[in-house]
Amino acid sequence: MWFSKSQEEALNELNVNPATGLTTTEAKARLEKYGANKLKGKPKKSLISLFFEQLQDMLIYVLLGAAVITVAIGEYVDAVIILLVVVLNAVIGVVQEYKAEKAIEALQAMTTPRSLVRRDGEVKEINSEEIVLGDIIVLDAGRFVPADLRLIESANLQIEESALTGESVPSEKNADDLHEDPKTPIGDKSNMAFMSTLATYGRGEGAVIATAMDTEIGKIATILDEDIEEMTPLQKRLDELGKTLGFIAIGICVLIFIIALFQKRDLFEMFLTAISLAVAAIPEGLPAIVAIVLALGVTRMSKINAIVKKLPAVETLGSVSIICSDKTGTLTQNKMTVVKFYTFDNLKDVQAEAMGQTAEQDEKELMKSFVLCSDATYENGQSTGDPTEVALVVLGDKYNLARRTLHSEYKRVGERPFDSDRKLMSTLNKEENAYRVHTKGAIDNILTISKNALVNGQVIPLTEEMKANYLKIAEEMSDNALRVLGAAFKDTVSIIDPEAMEKDLTVIGIVGMIDPPRLEVKDSIVEAKSAGITPIMITGDHKNTAVAIAKELGIAASIQQSITGAEIDELSDEEFSRRIKDYRVFARVSPEHKVKIVQAFQSHGNIVSMTGDGVNDAPSLKKADIGVAMGITGTDVSKGASDMILTDDNFSTIVHAIEEGRNIYNNIKKSVIFLLSCNLGEVVAIFISVLFFWPVPLLATQLLWINLITDTLPAIALGVDPGDKDVMKKKPRDPKESFFANGAGVRAILGGTLIGALTLAAFYFGLREYGYSFGSKTIPEEVLTYARTMAFVVLAGSQLFYSLAMRNPTKSILQVGLFSNMYLIGAIVVGFILQLVVISVPFLASAFKVQMLSAGDWGLVILFSLIPLALKEIAKLFMSEREN
Ligand code: ADP
Ligand code: MG
Repeated sequence: MWFSKSQEEALNELNVNPATGLTTTEAKARLEKYGANKLKGKPKKSLISLFFEQLQDMLIYVLLGAAVITVAIGEYVDAVIILLVVVLNAVIGVVQEYKAEKAIEALQAMTTPRSLVRRDGEVKEINSEEIVLGDIIVLDAGRFVPADLRLIESANLQIEESALTGESVPSEKNADDLHEDPKTPIGDKSNMAFMSTLATYGRGEGAVIATAMDTEIGKIATILDEDIEEMTPLQKRLDELGKTLGFIAIGICVLIFIIALFQKRDLFEMFLTAISLAVAAIPEGLPAIVAIVLALGVTRMSKINAIVKKLPAVETLGSVSIICSDKTGTLTQNKMTVVKFYTFDNLKDVQAEAMGQTAEQDEKELMKSFVLCSDATYENGQSTGDPTEVALVVLGDKYNLARRTLHSEYKRVGERPFDSDRKLMSTLNKEENAYRVHTKGAIDNILTISKNALVNGQVIPLTEEMKANYLKIAEEMSDNALRVLGAAFKDTVSIIDPEAMEKDLTVIGIVGMIDPPRLEVKDSIVEAKSAGITPIMITGDHKNTAVAIAKELGIAASIQQSITGAEIDELSDEEFSRRIKDYRVFARVSPEHKVKIVQAFQSHGNIVSMTGDGVNDAPSLKKADIGVAMGITGTDVSKGASDMILTDDNFSTIVHAIEEGRNIYNNIKKSVIFLLSCNLGEVVAIFISVLFFWPVPLLATQLLWINLITDTLPAIALGVDPGDKDVMKKKPRDPKESFFANGAGVRAILGGTLIGALTLAAFYFGLREYGYSFGSKTIPEEVLTYARTMAFVVLAGSQLFYSLAMRNPTKSILQVGLFSNMYLIGAIVVGFILQLVVISVPFLASAFKVQMLSAGDWGLVILFSLIPLALKEIAKLFMSEREN
C-alpha cells in the first residue's frame, strides 16, 4: 500500500531520485515496458459498422422495400439502380462521417493535457500520456493530476477529487502523512494524488505509482463512457426542419399517388415515382452536411490557432458582439522587463542590458524579497514560470543577486501562493537564526497590510504621508503603462502559518515593468469594431496601467471608460447593468467580477466571449457565451471550462475565429438553402405534372440519380466556400435569426419553383419537337424518353449552375470570382460529366430510360439550365447590401 509507505520506501521501490527524476533513457524504457499513460476509450467504430449504421434510416427501408417490389414484378434494372443509389448514399455518408470524426479526433489530440515532470534534473512539460512509473510530477494550482502519485512534497496543496469520490470540496494534502490502516478510503489518503483529479491550490510533488488503467480512475471504467457527441443548436433546428419538410414531402407524395389513382395512371410507376420523390425531397442529409461543414471548419480554425472544443461554439462565434479579453499576455506580449524601481524617496531606472549593476542597501533588500518570493527560474537565457516573476528574477541577475544562490542561502520553508483575489504572494524563508516572510503583490494591497517601511536600512512606522508617496510613484509608473508590484517583509522567530504571513509587514519598495502590447492587436481591434463588436479589457492590474495600454490599443479613449472591481462592488447589480455600456476597461477585478461583467453585458442582449486562464476563471468562462482559454498560460481548469482554446494566447486569434465562425455559418446557410431549393424544384416538377394530368417528366430512378449528384458534392463544396472578405464589415448576426429571415426563405421557394418550372418546360419542348404536347392522349415511349432526357439534364444542370449563384446572397458571382471555389467548379464539372455518361453510355442510357441528345438539344438544355443562375444574378443587382 503506497499510502502506508514512507516516502523513502516508495522512492526506493520506484527506483528514482526525487531531486533529478528519471533519466530520459530510463523513462523511455519504462514507457516501452508499461505502455502509454492513457485510459482506454470506447472502441472505435469500424467502417463496416459505420456503413450499416447509414442504412438504418426510414427512407432507406422504404427504398429497399421499393427495390423488393421492383424485383417482384420483374423490373430488375430499376431494382439495381435503386440498390446502387442506396449503397452510394451510404458510402457518401460513411465518408462524411469518417472525415468529420477524424477532424474532431485531431482536435482532441491537440488538447491532450500536459504535465510538469522532473527528468534529467530539469523540470519540463510533456504530454501526460508519456508519463511512466517513477516519474516525479510537479503539481500546481489549476493542473490535473496526470497519474496516481505518492506525494513527496506539498505546500498547502489542495486537490479536488470529485471525479473519484464525488466530493467537490477540495481535500487538503500532506506529503508527510502516513496511513497505517489498509482500509483508508480514497478521500482520506492525504499523502496521495489520483489521476484525473484537480489541484486547486498550492504546490506539490509526487512520484508516479500507477499509470493508465492501473490507476484508481482506470479501475472505474464506466466513467469513460460519457458520450460527447451532441448536436449543435443549429443541427437540432435543421433536424426539426428536416422532419417537418419530410412530413410535408410525404404528404405531397401520398397526394400525388392518390391523384394518380383517380387518374388511372400506371399505378406501379406512380408508386415508385412517389417513393423516389419522397426520397429526393426529404432533406435527410441536412444534419450530415452541417456536421461535415462544421468539422472541416473547426479543422481550418485550428490552423489559425483557435481550437474549438465544442461544436456549438462555432455558431455562437458568428454572433459575438462583445469580446472581453485579459490584458496580460492576450493584449500584451507577456514579456515583462523591470525598467524602474523605487525604495523610499529614491526612484531609479534599470539599464536595459547591463549586468553587474550596483544596488544600495534598501534596493538589495527589495530585490532579495522579490527573487525569494518567486517561483520562476532564469538560467542561461532560459526562463520558466510566470513572466512577471521572470522579470523579477532577471532583475536580480542584473544586480548580482542570482536566484540560485539566494534560494539556497535562504531556504523556503513555507508559502502562500498567489491568487488573483488577494493579488499577493508570500513565502517564508530561513534567515541565519530566524525566518523572514517575503510578500509581493499589488502595491495598494501591500500598503494595506503593512505597518512599517524600510528606509535607509531602518524599519520605521509607515505614515499616511509615506503611503501617499508610494502610491504617487506607483500612479506615475502606471500612467506610463508600467505594471507595478510592491514588496514587503517581516521577521519571525519561528515558522508561521500561511494565514499569519500577510499582516504587519514592512514595505520595502516598488518595481515598474513594461509589457509591450502585441503589435497585431491594434489592427484586430479596428477590425472588431468595424464588425460591430466591442472589445473590452479585463485585468487584475492597476487602473492607470490598464487605461494607458487600452488607449494605445484603441480600446478606450479616456479614463472615464474604466471602472475598478472595488467600484463595481459599490454598485447594485441593476445599476451596474445600466452603466455597463459606458465601460471599456475593468481594472483590479477578481474572477467573481468577471461573472458579473458577463451577466451585465448579456442583460443587454449581447453575446459575450470571455477569456480566462486561472483556476478561478472557470465560472466566468462557463457563464460567457464563448469561454476562451489560453493554450500557453492557461490552467487545465480554465481549458476544461472553455469552449475554445487559443494556442497562441493572442487576442487577434479571437477576432479571426469570429470571422471564421461567421463564414462557416454563412456556408452552412448556403448549403441548406441550396439543398432545399433543389428538392423543391423536384417536387414542383412532379407535383404540377400530376396535378394537371400531364405525363410525369421524370422517372423514379432518374429522380434518385439527380438527387444523388446534386445533394452531395455541390452542397459540400458550398459548405467549404472561401470566406467573404467583407464578412467583418457587417454587424453580428442575431442568434435568434432564422436561416429564412430577410427573405431568404422566399427566395429559396422562388428558386425551387423556377427550377421545377424549367424542368417542365424542357419536357414540354421535347414533346413538342415530335408534335405532341402535355394534353396528347397517347405519346409513344421513344418520344417520352426523349422529352424526359431533356427534363433530366435540365433539372440536374440548373441545380448545378444555380449552386454558383448561392455563393453570395448579394454579390454577383463575378465579384466573388467564378473560380475562387474550385471545389464547386469541380463538383459542377463532375456533375455534368456524370449526366453525360448516363445519357451516352448505351447500357446506362437504357437502364435509366434516357437517350443521347443532339448538339442542338444540348444547346437548348444548357440555355435552360443557365436561367435560374442568370435570374438570380440579375436580382442581386437590385438588392441592397444589407439584405442577405
Ligand atoms: P492580469 O493578468 O490581468 O495582469 P493578474 O491577476 O495577473 O492580472 O495580476 C493582478 C495584480 O496582481 C498585478 O497587478 C500584480 O500587482 C499582482 N501580481 C500579479 N502576478 C503576481 C505574482 N506572481 N506575485 C505577486 N503578485 C502578483
Ligand atoms: Mg496574470
